[in-house]
Amino acid sequence: MKKEKSTFGWIFTFAGQKRSGYIASVILAVIGAAFQILPFFVMARVIGKLLAGNKDLAGYLIDCAVMAAFWLLRVLFHSLSTAQSHKATFAVLGNIRKQGLAKLAKMPLGDVQSRGSGELKNILVERVDSIEPTLAHVIPEMSSNAVVVLATFIYLLVLDWRMALVSLITFPIGMVFFMLMMAGYNKNYARTVAATNTLNDTAVEYIGGIEVIKVFGKAKSSYEKFVAAAKECAQSYIDWMNKSNFFFTFAMNIMPATLLSVLPIGGLLLKNGTLMPEKFVLIVILSMGLITPIIGCMKFIDDLAKVGTVIGQVTDILTASELSRPETDTQMPRDSTIELHNVHFGYGETEVLHGVNLTFRDGTVNALVGPSGSGKSTIAKLIAAFWDVGSGKITVGGADIRSISSEHYNKLIAYVSQDNFLFDNTVRENIRMGKPAATDAEVERAARDCGCYDFIMGLENGFDTVVGSGGGHLSGGEKQRISIARAMLKNAPIVIFDEATAYTDPENEAIIQESVARLVRGKTLIVIAHRLSTIVDADQIVVVNDGHIEAAGTQAELLQTCPLYETLWNAHIASRDSAEGGADRA
Ligand code: ADP
Repeated sequence: MKKEKSTFGWIFTFAGQKRSGYIASVILAVIGAAFQILPFFVMARVIGKLLAGNKDLAGYLIDCAVMAAFWLLRVLFHSLSTAQSHKATFAVLGNIRKQGLAKLAKMPLGDVQSRGSGELKNILVERVDSIEPTLAHVIPEMSSNAVVVLATFIYLLVLDWRMALVSLITFPIGMVFFMLMMAGYNKNYARTVAATNTLNDTAVEYIGGIEVIKVFGKAKSSYEKFVAAAKECAQSYIDWMNKSNFFFTFAMNIMPATLLSVLPIGGLLLKNGTLMPEKFVLIVILSMGLITPIIGCMKFIDDLAKVGTVIGQVTDILTASELSRPETDTQMPRDSTIELHNVHFGYGETEVLHGVNLTFRDGTVNALVGPSGSGKSTIAKLIAAFWDVGSGKITVGGADIRSISSEHYNKLIAYVSQDNFLFDNTVRENIRMGKPAATDAEVERAARDCGCYDFIMGLENGFDTVVGSGGGHLSGGEKQRISIARAMLKNAPIVIFDEATAYTDPENEAIIQESVARLVRGKTLIVIAHRLSTIVDADQIVVVNDGHIEAAGTQAELLQTCPLYETLWNAHIASRDSAEGGADRA
């Protein structure tokens, strides 16, 4: 798929097998347009008869009935055409969403996360929805209006070529105003999008952070921030409308005002005898018939620009780079030893890891420690294939991870982080996600092994308790224990565990420690350690500093050889002592 494809090119691609729906819609619309033009021929006949002094009332009534019938047929075909194009458009929206979701599965997980689930949902749900009315109407209406304008113009040419050209004089003048209206479109639209996003973010922040806001007495300033965002959002639209309203009004009034040129010039030609009166009357009527379809086409130009913007956002997702992985493995890992060979990596321009060489041997417990921002999570996420390395390589059991299919690699790794997501589903199903084919007994055994069983049975409906979206009804520690049970059920040979910083109550910590120990028996464990006391027995502790590996060894070795580790250790002991001292005094 190429990025340069036009908006309509993309829409046609998305339409897939429903293209015939659009084609049927256009055909029906053109038939409808024919019924819109036919009354003018009847009218021409009526005018002819009137000017010839015909007084046959019944004949005139039949002419009127025929015109009414044409009008009804026009309405009928128009409705049929619109129904077809609505059907096709819903298929387009469905395809956009399906392709978008399929793409998210192929994109590096890190990229998906950094785009933000709110923004992705906004594009694939709300913004895609917002183009439905335009898309459904634009194809039949633009085509029928264009046909009407063209056919009427050709008929005018046949009647009198000079008057046909005269009837179009207002068109270029109106277009100039229209172009002026569209001049700053991208800038203005971008401002409204940015302002709407800020308003959304501020509202989410205000509601989500209401506890903190109240505790720190920030209600007033936070509310003011929200009000300012709402005002800027409204103002961005008002400014845009103010700027474009003048040109829009002119364009919409001048362009269809065909009589401005037709009446005076036609009058002159009539006076000098080169235009017959009956032709003149007919030309006046026909040029008035141009008004509605011209306005019909114009009103879509603005909407089409918006569709183009939304399609641009969608194609931006669809053309994002993917993790390149083979469908089937081209190399097979022989065990679960992980090696990083001269790995460089950066988010965007700035490099974060500067040539990391590391080995995590099969079946060992490894800890990554180091100051905040030193690159521990980045190393773990590269191993979990959230992103691909910039240069160098990561191997598992000797096989470059880029030669292992995503499906296989996902089975090799369990990633447990402090913000593991729980779905709005039962506790049982949340754990079962680790192994969809697991029986209830297996799910319960995993929960028991992780020390979750008792607290789960204490919930309202035990394993059938529905945990709110994101696991809202559970405490942080409980959520993490459920994600450990999920990982345990998955039984992957490599476990990456991002130790929680937030839930440090000793009871939870002890249970989590114990369940992690059971989870990783015989497996390769990499833990991102925030509390050094939890990893003193690790087979290997890796000290990361500013994107380099400062040292690696056991606790005893590092205390001897690595001053940074000693500093970190002393700081940890001091903070733990002061916390315990505080608890003792309380
Ligand atoms: P640690 O886990 O040691 O605290 P990280 O690996 O999270 O450190 O971060 C290393 C560096 O990379 C930091 O400077 C951090 O700001 C940056 N970083 C981390 N994640 C991202 C991201 N998604 N986008 C941009 N920069 C990031």
